[in-house]
Amino acid sequence: MLTGEESENMHDVIVVGGGPTGFVTALGLAQAGVEVLLLEAGDQIIDSPRAAVYHWSLLDGLERLGIREKAEQTGVVKDDYSWLIKRTGEMIRYRLDVLDEVTAFNYNINLGQDKLAQIAKGRLEQLPNARLRFNARLERLEQDSDGVTVWLDNGEELRARWVVGADGAGSTVREQAGQTFDGFTWPERFVATNVYHDFASGGYGLSTMVVDEQWGAVIVIIQPDGLWRCTYMEDASLPEESYLERLPAAYEHLLPGDGGYRLHQASPYKMHQRCASSFRTGRVMLAGDSAHVTNPTGGFGLTTGLFDAYALWPTLAAVVLEGADESLLDIWAQERRDIFLEKTSPMAIHYKDFLFHCFRGDQAKLDAAVAGMRRMQNEPAYCRERLMFTKGLETTSPAER
Ligand SMILES: Cc1cc2nc3c(=O)[nH]c(=O)nc-3n(C[C@H](O)[C@H](O)[C@H](O)COP(=O)(O)OP(=O)(O)OC[C@H]3O[C@@H](n4cnc5c(N)ncnc54)[C@H](O)[C@@H]3O)c2cc1C
Repeated sequence: MLTGEESENMHDVIVVGGGPTGFVTALGLAQAGVEVLLLEAGDQIIDSPRAAVYHWSLLDGLERLGIREKAEQTGVVKDDYSWLIKRTGEMIRYRLDVLDEVTAFNYNINLGQDKLAQIAKGRLEQLPNARLRFNARLERLEQDSDGVTVWLDNGEELRARWVVGADGAGSTVREQAGQTFDGFTWPERFVATNVYHDFASGGYGLSTMVVDEQWGAVIVIIQPDGLWRCTYMEDASLPEESYLERLPAAYEHLLPGDGGYRLHQASPYKMHQRCASSFRTGRVMLAGDSAHVTNPTGGFGLTTGLFDAYALWPTLAAVVLEGADESLLDIWAQERRDIFLEKTSPMAIHYKDFLFHCFRGDQAKLDAAVAGMRRMQNEPAYCRERLMFTKGLETTSPAER
């Protein structure tokens, strides 16, 4: 691992952003032999409560990167889903073991996205061709036919042949590349909380989706020591600064079973459905939240971001190391954008409407959705078919076909 003080030459790739997308992309590139510099604006990996579920379909990609086992040891492996229809008290359950015949990894891993980023960082730090800088905020970039010049907020100038913007929803790279971020912002606010509470005593499974127009929630265990994520929604017109004062009243409805609770962390956030106009602008690619954002219901946001990374790193590595045709990057960019617009975003909107709004009074739609869940519980083949949705968010690298 080179140190931050060493002299700068032309980097093969600068990855901007030390979130899970940035670290996974950088790790894939570096392990393939590409020289990589990762820039992160903060002084450490952000550890506020954010994405926490790695669907089964993502685990092959973690395995390929050599970090699946560590992720499993750090987080919670779980293969059950429960859906509580709060109004009737009906609990519907199904398991991921119906996926036995399609994958060796028929379970999800739950762990905070900061932990996944830390695991990737740990491996990256062992590689001589990878370099990592915190407190390094990209402010501006310009590209020419040979590469990209990047300026940090301290005035420092860096050069790279390629830049990957993995700098999140407010991406400076996206803005500097001249791409728009079209879509809309939801009128509700989500509140992501990490809490110690005995949800199992209330009959909840390790992932429980609570369907209710007022107290809908996503409740999943995220640490072996009994830390759970409980995400609920509130009206965004309520003042954000006082969300913690409202939390105890919300928990009265959200926390079942015995005993008290210990709040560990909480984070309110605005939700959007937005997508960049293009994921490639010459030598600059966008991946993860810098390319697309969605409401988190279903956990498809980071799933799509990691699939961006899984398909990008082999493609860019082939271009950098083997002189593969750069047009492969256009194919990558178009395919990933299509996946977000045609699959990720519509399904996340559907699940938000189901869980948190019960389809806004459309009883026939609600009945059909609940009937679908019951079918998943009772019919393994149908359950498998529905669970394949997250596999469909994957695209392979165009360089590997
Ligand atoms: C409170 C909250 C809860 C969420 N809950 C869920 C959930 O339950 N399920 C789900 O699927 N998704 C959830 N999301 C969304 C999920 O967190 C994102 O999809 C995920 O963070 C995307 O990862 P990323 O690496 O692309 O971007 P980020 O995690 O946003 O990482 C971007 C990184 O880039 C850095 N950066 C920004 N600008 C610059 C710059 N100019 N120069 C250098 N570095 C820069 C930032 O400091 C940050 O570390 C949640 C989001 C929030 C905010």
